[in-house]
Amino acid sequence: MKNTYKADSINTAHTIEIICAGCGHDLATDELSDITCTACGGELTLRQNIAVTVNALPSMSNLTS
Ligand SMILES: [Zn+2]
Repeated sequence: MKNTYKADSINTAHTIEIICAGCGHDLATDELSDITCTACGGELTLRQNIAVTVNALPSMSNLTS
């Protein structure tokens, strides 16, 4: 059996996380331009993780009305 869902029925969310490549410290926006990491003290190398979450379930919000 094969089911095909229309794209507009799928809710997607992106989570973009920018961390120190050395220690994994979650960087604040004003820390991105720093030369050294505030957490480990090493030279700051940025690492970006992008996670895509797909929720294909229909919204439950109309059940409460
Ligand atoms: Zn670090």
